Amino acid sequence: MQYRHIKPDPYRLARMMVAVKAVGVDDARVLAAMEAVPREIFVSPALKNEAYMDKTLPIGFEQTISAPSVVGAMTQALSLTGTEKVLEVGTGCGYQCAVLAKCAKRVFSVERIAGLAKGAEERLRGMGLHNVVTKVGDGRLGWPEQAPFDGIIVTAAGLDVPASLREQLVVGGRMVIPVGAQGQRQKLLRIVRTEAGFDEEVLGLVDFVPLLGAS
Ligand code: SAH
Repeated sequence: MQYRHIKPDPYRLARMMVAVKAVGVDDARVLAAMEAVPREIFVSPALKNEAYMDKTLPIGFEQTISAPSVVGAMTQALSLTGTEKVLEVGTGCGYQCAVLAKCAKRVFSVERIAGLAKGAEERLRGMGLHNVVTKVGDGRLGWPEQAPFDGIIVTAAGLDVPASLREQLVVGGRMVIPVGAQGQRQKLLRIVRTEAGFDEEVLGLVDFVPLLGAS
């Protein structure tokens, strides 16, 4: 399936961009990427009318597509300039992955549910994004064969930051990851690897699905 011809309704897209900017997203690269990726491709046809609303939506397999404002804020926190190699944990439907592909040089994305990975792969190919590679597996282990990464983004929440992910960051690299229990809001952390260790800051509170082991 080809998605290149799909253009969002300008009014709905403009409203989505207002919501993204309202949370402080002002990085031109991130804003341009989000304007160029039609979110409607990533949800079922029945949800098309809601695709540009600033909310999470179901994507099957008990998983969700993140709200546009969260995707924008997390992408911006990676400080991408177009030269980076990025790892995503939790491909889901592939929306965040598509936005990353437009902001970074290469994207590697891991998803534990094969059915979701397949759909994401088809959409990314259909959009003509050829700088993305996906695989099915446990993203808590990272992608050692492709490490190190300039940026790592985790789109599911665990109780801690997996050590393998920390180890796969370059010095100066950034990781954005929600940490906390289900049933309560999780802390969205930005972790920067330094020569001496890791600097951490809390960006805000979020609600993500759980980071689980491979099935
Ligand atoms: N990035 C998506 C969000 C997907 S929801 C977006 O653009 O909206 C989070 C995804 O993380 C789910 O698809 C879930 O199956 C996946 N996931 C959870 N634990 C995982 C793990 N250990 N490894 C890889 N993927 C995982």
